[in-house]
Amino acid sequence: MMSEYKLTRYPLFINGALTHPTHEQYIEVINPANGKVIAEVANGCEVDVDKAVAAARTCFDQGDWPNTTPDERSKVLYKIANLIIANAHELAALEVACSGGTISRIKGLDIPAVADLFMKLAEEIKTFQFVENLPLTPLPEPLHSQVRKEPIGVCGLITAWNFPLLLLAMKVAPALAAGNTVVVKPATTTPTSTLRFIEIISTVLPDGVVNVVTGPGQRIGEALCEHQDVDKISFTGSTRVGIAVQQMAAKTLKRVTLELGGKGAAIVMPDADLERTAYGALFGVYLNSGQACESGTRLLVHESIHDELVDQLIALSNDMVIGDPMDPGVAMGPMTTAAHCQSVLDYIESAREQGATIACGGERVEVAGCEEGFYIQPTIITNVTNNMKVAQEEIFGPVLSIIKFSTTEQAIEIANDNIYGLSAGIWSEDVVQAQGIAQKLRAGSIWINDWHMMRTDGAFGGYKQSGYGREFGKYSLTSYLETKTITTSFEHDKEKKTFHKFVHKTLA
Ligand code: NAD
Repeated sequence: MMSEYKLTRYPLFINGALTHPTHEQYIEVINPANGKVIAEVANGCEVDVDKAVAAARTCFDQGDWPNTTPDERSKVLYKIANLIIANAHELAALEVACSGGTISRIKGLDIPAVADLFMKLAEEIKTFQFVENLPLTPLPEPLHSQVRKEPIGVCGLITAWNFPLLLLAMKVAPALAAGNTVVVKPATTTPTSTLRFIEIISTVLPDGVVNVVTGPGQRIGEALCEHQDVDKISFTGSTRVGIAVQQMAAKTLKRVTLELGGKGAAIVMPDADLERTAYGALFGVYLNSGQACESGTRLLVHESIHDELVDQLIALSNDMVIGDPMDPGVAMGPMTTAAHCQSVLDYIESAREQGATIACGGERVEVAGCEEGFYIQPTIITNVTNNMKVAQEEIFGPVLSIIKFSTTEQAIEIANDNIYGLSAGIWSEDVVQAQGIAQKLRAGSIWINDWHMMRTDGAFGGYKQSGYGREFGKYSLTSYLETKTITTSFEHDKEKKTFHKFVHKTLA
């Protein structure tokens, strides 16, 4: 089955309207499943960023949106969730065509999760304590203090290409729940689903609340990070660019959330159920063909069960269905770009050069009818040591690096010996022991006997160079809020203003 999507030209989305880019230039969007051009999107520039930020700024400073009650915003978030479900088919088709994610996953997992992110926050803000009255204090005289949570202002939301809609919703939902306005910058290669999503949800929002500027990451991203009128940046992407984002944002002390790379390690204890582990570990690394930040890409296996588990992993890997992601029977689609496909193959080659063994896969795959697509075989690498490139660096492909260990302490040390700290896990029938190990692993998400299990009311984010700040539910809401204290004095008599005497000596 061939992916089908007709060529469409997407302008920018600014102040509630589709807007032509200043220089009238467009970039081609390629379908990674077959290498064909499926759309053109605006090649925006700094002037376009200025326009979008001005729209968001005016809407925040002069519009009603930031002053809506949580109850009013809750109703809007529910409407957005309903719109997502109503437009699920179109959004899913766009997402598959630009990102190469499989239709079965995007329809069955991503789109419901996107809607759920809005619904969870719609519910959360009904009871969230946006205003807290502190107990009346008699010191230095009767005072009332109110601590208020207010929206931060204009938020620049920069997303990566691997789960375009999900990563977007993880930022837009809390930003809107808090009452902010936003300028979105999707990944250069996967902008189409984002543009349509924003256009759809804008129908229930005032003009200027949501805006999108597409174009090259460096040009648009940097313009947003350095803009005087942007108050917060939420960034999902590589650690390399994340560091640059933090440096740029520091010049105006913008608030920053960084969701960056990962190199998840799963420890397989000798008592693990090997069949369950084999299925689960491969789910952990092959979902989205390995293009997930929190994938389980290092499998640390106890020496006593190593060979048996590797045999099972190879057998299951050879059964993986690779092909056109629009086919509902396909489990693994392509790499998102040709350049990324080559980078994954280079990592596999580096493993060979460093003395590891390619136990299965390792090659590019030609899919009938999609000959120009960027597909790679599911790949298991054994005899890996933790200092090899494939153990230290993010490959972002369907590649599992297997490392043997002999003691639990050694496994924990190997798991933590990496610059990243996004995810980790344990496979064991002894959950008490597994819980103990979980506490020693330095990562933001730990899974015991599973992987990729994220709750939209949970907290997701990184330790170490995987970033900081948390996304999902109330944990993301707080990072889109400023805290203000309003204190009121009830003392009218100037003689009783205890502290004033330090300035007015006539009162002493
Ligand atoms: P990337 O860092 O190259 O790009 C991310 C975004 O930043 C894109 O929109 C890009 O256009 C933009 N950008 C590029 N240069 C920029 C600059 N100089 N200033 C500002 N913005 C700039 O990452 P990618 O290749 O799109 O995505 C893959 C990476 O994202 C992987 O490292 C992956 O682990 C990470 N990721 C992390 C999470 C998470 O939640 N922690 C989720 C998904 C992906």
